[in-house]
Amino acid sequence: MLYQRSSALFKDAKLVIPGGVNSPVRAFNAVGGTPIFAKSAKGAYVYDEDGNRFIDYINSWGPMLLGHAFPPVVEAVVERAKAGTSFGMPTALETEIAELAISMVPNIDKIRFVNSGTEACMSAIRLARGYTKRDKIIKFAGCYHGHSDSFLIAAGSGAVTFGTPNSPGVTQGTAKDTLLANYNDIENVKELVEANKDEVAAIIIEPVAGNMGCIPPVAGFLEGLRAICDTNGILLIFDEVMTGFRLAKGGVQELKGINADIVCFGKVVGGGLPVGAFAAKDEIMNHLAPLGPVYQAGTLSGNPLAMAAGLAMLKAINADKGLMNRLEEKTKYLHNGIADALNKNNVTHTINRIGSMISVHFAEDAVVDFNSAANGNNDTFKKFFHGMLNEGIYIAPSAFETWFITDALTYQDLNETITAVETIAKSL
Ligand SMILES: *Cc1c(COP(=O)(O)O)cnc(C)c1O
Repeated sequence: MLYQRSSALFKDAKLVIPGGVNSPVRAFNAVGGTPIFAKSAKGAYVYDEDGNRFIDYINSWGPMLLGHAFPPVVEAVVERAKAGTSFGMPTALETEIAELAISMVPNIDKIRFVNSGTEACMSAIRLARGYTKRDKIIKFAGCYHGHSDSFLIAAGSGAVTFGTPNSPGVTQGTAKDTLLANYNDIENVKELVEANKDEVAAIIIEPVAGNMGCIPPVAGFLEGLRAICDTNGILLIFDEVMTGFRLAKGGVQELKGINADIVCFGKVVGGGLPVGAFAAKDEIMNHLAPLGPVYQAGTLSGNPLAMAAGLAMLKAINADKGLMNRLEEKTKYLHNGIADALNKNNVTHTINRIGSMISVHFAEDAVVDFNSAANGNNDTFKKFFHGMLNEGIYIAPSAFETWFITDALTYQDLNETITAVETIAKSL
């Protein structure tokens, strides 16, 4: 495949945009090579500036659950734009999408819309701190909650009491209020809570992790967190920015039957426009301005184009009773096909899968947390990534990302993908 135009565009972009990209994951730093510039997309396919077609397993990093340029979303946005693109005044549309979201998601009374997943998580911990009048939060190594300061803390070796900033610009003062735990390690969480008695406002977690590959919670883990929170007056925050409206129409709360105190959304909820949201029961949400003292705001929050796109998306998901099953069946089919192809060629691997999320790790042992995810062979991943790209299959340019399965994928697309893996596996 030729990427002449992409290469030229990247050269130009680098002169005026840091690294040539507006979000680092788009650069190919982890795998080498030049990012591909998208020109258009439809259904399961994305087309680049050189005219190449790819079967897309990134899908804008999650939002395109029903495929690119999904007609109801496109029509809703186009129609809405003609009536004005922003007012800074409330609109009927915002109540409509709020009502629908609340009817789909268990255990929430009110929802506030923002512009990104980052904003949703950032606001959720402010609300939790305001509500509990405590400062500290517990997050898990390898979980991503957007790029606000409190969350840019990576794991030290083993369980550390105080996080160290992994990005310059995050102050020690901020970092010390973020405690790190190991995913799927309930004892570790108990120790942290014990060591910080009455100081922890919230435990925030991706209830199915998707930002270190796909890592489902082990049996009893989420139940354990719920119990710890209940005993210690801590709020449990489910960051469902990736899993919300994807793993079930009510997200992981519905899938696993566990209630969170605050839930964060993004990605699918905006249907491809910039939307995030956070939601909770009245008792907690009523602490938010203008009802309560916890301040949170946004000039473009609840933007009519974004709300129109989100509403069309949620309506389509809500109306389609077979959707989640179809997605799971497709993902399972892909899983089996990839596993067969890799096994036939003796390629060491572990595949994690739940619903429409799947990740291929070139690791021997089970991948259950950040350390085991980091054990994967990155050289093999690089070869795999570039091999797939060459075969017209676009997966995320990092071994730490989930593949997002869209309902627009046909079994023929899946077979094409599996054939590509068979071809590449020979040289891994
Ligand atoms: C993508 C993501 C975010 C951040 O959302 P943005 O819209 O990129 O700010 C937060 N949490 C999780 C779990 C995510 O996957």
